[in-house]
Amino acid sequence: MAENKGVMVYGEIMEGKLSSITTELLGCGRRLADELKEELLCVLVGDKLGEVPQKAIAYGADKVYTTEAPLLKEYQTDSYVAVLEKVVKDITPRILLLGQTSMGRDLAPRLAFRLGVSLSMDCLELSIDPGTKLLQQTRPVYGGNARATFTSEALPQIATVRQKAMSPLEPNESRKGEVSAIKVELDPAKIRTKVLDTVKEEVAGIKLEDAQAIVAGGRGIGGPEGFKQLEELAKALKGAVGASRPPADNKWVPDTLQIGLTGKIVTPELYIAVGISGASQHIAGCSGAKNIIAINKDPEANIFKEARFGVVGDWKQVLPAFTDKVRELLAG
Ligand SMILES: Cc1cc2nc3c(=O)[nH]c(=O)nc-3n(C[C@H](O)[C@H](O)[C@H](O)COP(=O)(O)OP(=O)(O)OC[C@H]3O[C@@H](n4cnc5c(N)ncnc54)[C@H](O)[C@@H]3O)c2cc1C
Repeated sequence: MAENKGVMVYGEIMEGKLSSITTELLGCGRRLADELKEELLCVLVGDKLGEVPQKAIAYGADKVYTTEAPLLKEYQTDSYVAVLEKVVKDITPRILLLGQTSMGRDLAPRLAFRLGVSLSMDCLELSIDPGTKLLQQTRPVYGGNARATFTSEALPQIATVRQKAMSPLEPNESRKGEVSAIKVELDPAKIRTKVLDTVKEEVAGIKLEDAQAIVAGGRGIGGPEGFKQLEELAKALKGAVGASRPPADNKWVPDTLQIGLTGKIVTPELYIAVGISGASQHIAGCSGAKNIIAINKDPEANIFKEARFGVVGDWKQVLPAFTDKVRELLAG
C-alpha cells in the first residue's frame, strides 16, 4: 500500500472562484506541509474549473488534482463524496483539511467513515508533532468554555477548520505547480438527490465577515428598534451590524448576523459590543478583533475583561453622542 504523504486541502469553489475558506486552508496547509517537508496538495471538484487550479497554486499549492464533469456542476453529497473517496484513495495524503462550512460539514464525516479513519471538526489550531509527525487538532469543547487537542494514528488524519481561524498567504501568480486531472466514473443512478433551486442570501451593505468595523448588539438592546441605532453607527464607520445569540433567537435580527461559537467568526479592526455581557460562546466569535470597545451598564460584565476601551452606561444615552462624535471626526 502507498505511503501516506502530503497535506491535502479540499478546495471549495463559489461562483467560479476559490472561496475564502480555501485560501485560508491553503495558508495553513502550506505551513504544515513545510513543517513535514512534504507537498501541499489541493483537490478541486466541479465543472469547467477554468483558472481556479492556477489560483490554488498562487495561494500555496504544489499540486492540484481536478475532477471535472457536468454532473459535478452543483454540489451534491453523493457525487462529491464518491469523487473525494476516489481521489484520497489514489493520492493517499497524510492529512486532509476541509472547511467547517455547510459543504465541509456534510462531506467530512461521510468521507472519514468510508476511509475508516477519525475526524476532528471545527478546529481552531493545527500543528504537527515533530516526533510522531501526527497532526494535533485543537477545537472548542464544553460549549466553547475550553479547548482540547486531539490526535489520531490512522491516516489520513482528517480535520475541518473554522472559517477565519487561519490566514491565507499573499497570492503569488508566478508560483509554479502541477495540475493533474483525475477521472472518476460517476453512476447517475447512485446520486439520490438533485438540486432544484439555489436561493442566494441577500446581503445589504458590507458582509459581516469582510467588515473592518462591526457594531454588535446583544440582549441589552431590547428589541429590533434599537438595532436601527446600531446601523447608524455602523454606517458612519462604513462597517456592518452583528449580534449576539439572543437577538438572533428572538428574531430581532436575521440569524446570519449572529457572532460566536454557533455563529460567525469575525476579525475586524474595530468591534463595538453594545449590551453584550461577553459570554465565552460570544467571545469565541470576536476574540480575533484588533480592538474591542464595550458599552454596558454593568461594570462587572465580562466583556470589559476582553475590551480595550469600555463605557459603563446605558447605551441609549451613550450611543447617540458616540455616533455624532464619530461622524464629526470622520467628516473633519
Ligand atoms: C452551545 C452554546 C452555543 C452558543 N453560541 C453562541 C453564539 O454563537 N453567540 C452568542 O452570542 N452566544 C452564544 N451562546 C449563548 C451565550 O452563552 C450567551 O447566553 C449569550 O452570548 C448572551 O448574549 P448577550 O450578551 O447578548 O445577553 P446577556 O448575557 O443577557 O447580556 C446582556 C447584557 O446587556 C447589558 N445591558 C442591558 N441593558 C443595557 C443597557 N440599556 N445599556 C447597556 N447595557 C445593557 C447587561 O448588563 C448585560 O451585560 C451559546 C450558548 C451555548 C450553550
